[in-house]
Amino acid sequence: MTFPLETQGMDRPSISLVVPVYNEEESVAHFAAAISKSTDESWPEGDICPHFEIVFVDDGSCDATAAVIRAMCRVDRRIKLVSLSRNFGKEAALSAGLKAATGDAVIPMDVDLQDPPELIRPMVDLWLAGAQIVNAKRIDRSQDSFFKRATSRLFYKTINAMGDHPIAADVGDFRLLDRSAVAVLNEMTERCRFNKGLFSWIGFRTETVEYARPARRAGATKWNISRLVALAIDGITASTTFPLRVWTIIGAIISILAFGYAAFLIAHTIISGVDTPGYASIMVAVLFLGGLNLFSLGLMGEYIGRIAIQVRGRPLYVVAETIGF
Ligand code: UDP
Ligand code: MG
Repeated sequence: MTFPLETQGMDRPSISLVVPVYNEEESVAHFAAAISKSTDESWPEGDICPHFEIVFVDDGSCDATAAVIRAMCRVDRRIKLVSLSRNFGKEAALSAGLKAATGDAVIPMDVDLQDPPELIRPMVDLWLAGAQIVNAKRIDRSQDSFFKRATSRLFYKTINAMGDHPIAADVGDFRLLDRSAVAVLNEMTERCRFNKGLFSWIGFRTETVEYARPARRAGATKWNISRLVALAIDGITASTTFPLRVWTIIGAIISILAFGYAAFLIAHTIISGVDTPGYASIMVAVLFLGGLNLFSLGLMGEYIGRIAIQVRGRPLYVVAETIGF
């Protein structure tokens, strides 16, 4: 970021950093400063530094986040703001940012500096060498709680066992996406978005850089158990249909077993006559099948609800204001 705007020729690649923010007034200025410092260090005098823009997406913050960013936009033309009309969630905010970003490559980042800016240079270098997507894989998650690590491992195992295109484990939204990949993502019309699933679904030549995930710099995480569970359900229903098929298989197996049992009962009655005991086994069978029925109905409901959302065709997010474009 050492070059003044006038010297930015057409041949310098441009990179957009897309940063969704929700109630992050104490983090945004630190973030911009850290990016500025790190790009200066990563591209020392003499190296051709790409042109950077930072696209903040204010996801309906109720604190001074938008005001702080607006003030930053006035003094630095590389900083841009997309304000959503209310809190739409990180996935929608990220989509809004991907749409607004103008760079030849786009890197979604968290504002809390858990996505280290030092990785930008290695990612850009791999991109310039021909990669269209550069994943940043967390090799050390010791900063995350045991619970978060365990559930995240379980989630990736489950979703990858069900889906037909694997989702890279421990790769968050922090990755470099070439313009061609961003164009495909912007074309996608799904309403129930699970970006990690879309990122891996689109394919493209992919490289990986590894890093240890640091702790959050300021502020508090916006994720709690219920939001994480909702994200996991969205992820599974948005990228797989396997859970629907499971019930066909389980239903078929139970029917075959029931058929065999009926045959046994008939034979038994013919050979040794009628006997009345069996209350417990009938109760168990009724309750078990009732539970199974309700579960599979609920599962259908999850998918049907998403079909309804898709059919309504409302926009993914509503932009209230843009600055700097
Ligand atoms: N975020 C957002 N909308 C939300 C929740 C979070 O835009 O509804 C942003 C948040 O400001 C941050 C990023 O998403 O820049 C990641 O959030 P956080 O650090 O809380 O998640 P974690 O790192 O704990 O997974
Ligand atoms: Mg974070």
